[in-house]
Amino acid sequence: MKHIIILGDGMADHKVPSLHNLTPLQYASTPYMDLLAKSGRCGTLTTVPQGYAPGSEVANTAILGYDLDKVYEGRGPLEAASIGYEMQPGDMAIRCNIIAIADGKIKNHHGNHLTTEQGTRLIQQLDRELGNDRVKFIPGIQYRHLLVIKGGNKNITCNPPHDHPDEPWRPLLPDDALLTDLILRSQQILPEGLSIWPWSPGYRPSMTPLTTTYHDQIRQGSVITAVDLIRGIGHYAGLRCIDVEGATGLSDTNYEGKAQAAIEALRSGDDFVFLHVEASDEAGHDGDIDLKVKTIEYLDSRLIGPIYEAMKDDDITIAILPDHPTPVELRTHVAEPVPFLIWNKHIAPDTVQTFDEDSCQNGIYGHLHGDQFMHTLMAL
Ligand SMILES: [Zn+2]
Repeated sequence: MKHIIILGDGMADHKVPSLHNLTPLQYASTPYMDLLAKSGRCGTLTTVPQGYAPGSEVANTAILGYDLDKVYEGRGPLEAASIGYEMQPGDMAIRCNIIAIADGKIKNHHGNHLTTEQGTRLIQQLDRELGNDRVKFIPGIQYRHLLVIKGGNKNITCNPPHDHPDEPWRPLLPDDALLTDLILRSQQILPEGLSIWPWSPGYRPSMTPLTTTYHDQIRQGSVITAVDLIRGIGHYAGLRCIDVEGATGLSDTNYEGKAQAAIEALRSGDDFVFLHVEASDEAGHDGDIDLKVKTIEYLDSRLIGPIYEAMKDDDITIAILPDHPTPVELRTHVAEPVPFLIWNKHIAPDTVQTFDEDSCQNGIYGHLHGDQFMHTLMAL
């Protein structure tokens, strides 16, 4: 039996008055998700353990069955994996934004919309002038780069720059002499009004590959995503990362291409695919109700439909779920349980008829926590 998890990032929501008091998932036309819920089994899942902020990296790591208390290392190490930097023992990796500053304040967290080309050039210059055996700047994408410090301490307080727009930056400096020194020196090297801003430090996560934990079910597997954090999780989980042309992380993403890549991976030797689609989350952050409905319908008709039609006679189990709700009214993530469905052609269905936040509460799996979802899936 092969397995695929199709994850609609931020797809769950609250009831929206302008959608006749339905959630976007209830309002949207989703014949395939409803068919799979009806002929499969459902439940709800806590994806954000207590004590954690409902970030996508937290929720996706938990869905894959990992104990966050044991493996969570922040964003730095995930981004290191995503851009191909293999962290060594003793390395501390920290996200390194290039931010814009003015009048002693943080103007924005993205360096006035730096392009990847501009950002890369600036980070390479910083590495030449500030880098050494211990300190290394590694280019990433746009304003989002990486700083690796050998023997660096991750137990420091850093402030995410996007949480502090228009605030004075000096009181927000990290409580670490080396990082503070690098920030101040970067301002002498970068063009006027730009500064580095490191945040979210961590060591290499000690994640047991899924091919070890579930060695009978997963001999090789893949992750398909446009989001670097999810690529990083996939890397440490022992999954191969498949790049799909035109996968953007937005509603214009190449749904058909991602579906095709998943089908090809499963037909050419992979036992497991983690297929992540970001678009609904972006629509939620934008507070765009119509777009959120549309992204859910696209996921259903352009990605889930083709995968189901191509593979419905195969020995494959399909699981579908969001990682967390991103309610359009709140425009941010919340740590509430999410609905999930699990289907294969042999499964005895429960009574759930549609796939949404309410209906799945009546599913036969009940409410799952921790690694129960992954164990349940792999037991099929
Ligand atoms: Zn998410």
